[in-house]
Amino acid sequence: MATTVTKTAHPFDKTRLEALLTRRFFYAPAFDIYQGVAGLYDYGPPGSSLQANIISEWRKHFIVEEGMLEIDTTILTPAPVFETSGHVARFADWMVKDAKTGDVLRADHLVKNVFEARLAGDKEARGLAAQPKEDDKDKKQKKRKDKALKTAAVQLSDEVVAEYERILAQLDNYSGPELGQLCRDYKIMNPDTGNEVSEPQQFNLMFTTSIGPTGQHPGYLRPETAQGHFVNFQRLLEFNNGRVPFASAQIGRSFRNEISPRAGLLRVREFTMAEIEHFVDPDDKRHERFADVRDVELSLLDRDTQSAGSTAPRRMTVGAAVDAGVIANETLGYFVARIYQFLTKVGINPSRLRFRQHMANEMAHYATDCWDAEIENSTGWTECVGCADRAAYDLTVHSKRTGVPLVVREALKDPIITEKEVAEFNKKVLGKTFGRDAGVIQEVVNSLPEEGLIKLKGELAQGSATIVSPDGREFKLAPEILTIERQTLKQSIREFTPNVIEPSFGLGRILYTLLEHSFWSREQDVDRGVLSLPTLVAPTKVLIVPLSVRKFDDLVREVSNKFRKGGVFSRVDDSNQSIGKRYARNDELGTPFGVTLDFASIQNRTMTLRERDTTEQLIGSIDEVVAVVTDLVNGTIDWPAACTRLPRYTGTQNVD
Ligand code: AMP
Repeated sequence: MATTVTKTAHPFDKTRLEALLTRRFFYAPAFDIYQGVAGLYDYGPPGSSLQANIISEWRKHFIVEEGMLEIDTTILTPAPVFETSGHVARFADWMVKDAKTGDVLRADHLVKNVFEARLAGDKEARGLAAQPKEDDKDKKQKKRKDKALKTAAVQLSDEVVAEYERILAQLDNYSGPELGQLCRDYKIMNPDTGNEVSEPQQFNLMFTTSIGPTGQHPGYLRPETAQGHFVNFQRLLEFNNGRVPFASAQIGRSFRNEISPRAGLLRVREFTMAEIEHFVDPDDKRHERFADVRDVELSLLDRDTQSAGSTAPRRMTVGAAVDAGVIANETLGYFVARIYQFLTKVGINPSRLRFRQHMANEMAHYATDCWDAEIENSTGWTECVGCADRAAYDLTVHSKRTGVPLVVREALKDPIITEKEVAEFNKKVLGKTFGRDAGVIQEVVNSLPEEGLIKLKGELAQGSATIVSPDGREFKLAPEILTIERQTLKQSIREFTPNVIEPSFGLGRILYTLLEHSFWSREQDVDRGVLSLPTLVAPTKVLIVPLSVRKFDDLVREVSNKFRKGGVFSRVDDSNQSIGKRYARNDELGTPFGVTLDFASIQNRTMTLRERDTTEQLIGSIDEVVAVVTDLVNGTIDWPAACTRLPRYTGTQNVD
C-alpha cells in the first residue's frame, strides 16, 4: 500500500517560526538576562542536537567518505600568523557612520537595503505591489523597512529601475570608495534616522587579545580555521606519506566582529565552521572521483552573468561547467558538487540553492576563483558555504615568513636530463684577487642567463672576460678564476608548493536556512508549526507516547531499550496532555515518528506508528514496529515502503 504525502500547508510565516524556535529553545540570544549583546546565540537542546546531527553527517560525507585527515587546532592565534596571512591588513568590511548619531552601518548592506526599498516603493507606486514579504512581520526589520519605504515610495523611471537592478547584481564587486560614491550619487541616508552617512572606512573584523600575563604577545581569535591547517602542513604531508593530493578537515569555532549583526543566526560574531583544505598539484587539478559527480546538475550564477547585470542562474551539469571553463578545474567542480549533495541530503531545498561565482574585486585576498553556495531564505540569498581556490598563497607566505619549506618533494618517475652551462669559481684565487667583492662577482655570474654564460665562456677562451656589477663597476676575470663548462644534469626530484581548494561551511547558516525550508503549518492548526526535518538530522527520531503515566512504565522501558539496542534515538513524552497534543508538540521539534502504547499494547503486544508529515498511522507487533522504525531511521526504507510492511491503523483496536 503506497501512500502519498499530502500537505495542506499554510503560507510560510517567519514570525511563527521564530516564536517556535524561541519557545522550544532551538536557540536564543546569549546572556539574555544581562540584556545580551548582538550577534551571540546559545543553542538549546533541539538546536544542539540538530547541529550535532548535521556535523555528524558532514563528517561522514566528507571526512569518512573521502578519507580526509581531521585536525583540531587552537582558536587563540599569535599575531604574526595573521600578519603573514594578510588578515591583519585586509580582513575588513566597509562601514559608514550616521553623521549625527554616530550609529554604524555596513556600507554594502546600507546601499542594498535602500535600493531594494526604493524598488519596492516603485512597485507600490505602479500598483504592482506584491504581497508583503514574510519577513516584513519581523517587527524591527519592518520598522526599518517602512521608514526606508517612506522616503522611497515614488515611481522611478525605467532607466533608474534598470540602473538599481544592475548595481544590486554587482554590489559585491564595489570597493569602499565606490560605495561612498554610490551613497553620494543616489542620496543614500541612514534609513533609521534620515541622516547623511560618512565616507566608508575599513573595519577589521578580527577580535584582538593578548596572550600571557605581560600582554607582550598580541593575538587574535581566529576568523576562520584555515590557518591551523596551513601551519601544520609539513606534519600533515608527512602523515600522508609525502604525497598530494590529500585533504585536511576541521570543525571548530570562529569569531568575527561583525559591524551590525541583525540577521539572527545568519550573521553572528561567534560561529561554528567546518572547513576542508584540499592540497593539490598546481599542474594537475584533475580529481580522481570527478566521474562520480559529472552529471550532478546545478544552478550556476557565473561572473559574466553578474557583470552583465543579471542574477538569473543557468542550469548546468558540473561536467559541462568544467568542460566549458565556467568552473576553473575538476577539483573545484568536484567539491561544488559534493557541497550540493551534502546540503540537499541534510534537507536544504534544491530549488532554493544556487552557486554564485565571486567577481574579481569581491574575492578574498587569497583566492583565485571562488563559488559560494547560496541558499534562499526570507532575507534573500545567503552565502552558506564558500568554495575557493586559494592557489599557493597561504603556504607561500607562511614559508617565506618562517623560513620553513612548505613544499612537496616528489620523486620523478623519469628523471629530467638537461644540458647546461655551469660556472665554477676557484674560490681561493677569487678571494685573493678581489677580496670583499668576491661575493658580488659570484652573484652577477650566477644570475646570468644561458646566453650570457656562453658569451662569457667565449671571452675567457680569448684570455679574459669582463663583467659589470649592479653599481656599474667592471671586473676582469681570468680563466684561472672562472671556468664555464657544459654539463649534463639529472633532476630526479620535483619540488613544488601545492595549491589549496577550500570548501568552508558556516553551520549556523545551514541550520537556520534548513529550519526555514522545513517549517510549515497545517491549515487546520496554523498556530502549531511542523518542522519536516529529514530523519537523518532530526534531533529525536522517535517519540514514545504512553496513553497514561505509570500504567505503561514497563512497556515504555521495554520499547525504549529495543530502540536503544537498534541505535535509534527515542524520547518519551509522558506528560498529561492528549496524545494528539503530544504529537503536535513533537511535530514542532521535527520528530519524524511516534509510537503509542495503550491497553491494546499490553493485551495484544501491538503498537501504533505515526508519521509526522502525513499523520498517517500504521499498526503492528511491538517488534515489527521497532524493526520498521529502525529501517526508516537508517534510511534503508522510506515511509511508502513502511506502509507496505504494516497495515494501516484505522483508529480502533480489538481489546477484549
Ligand atoms: P568566508 O570565509 O567569509 O567565505 O565564510 C565562510 C562561511 O562562514 C560562510 O559561507 C558562512 O556560512 C560562514 N560565515 C561567515 N561569516 C559569518 C557570520 N558572521 N555569521 C555566521 N556565519 C558566517
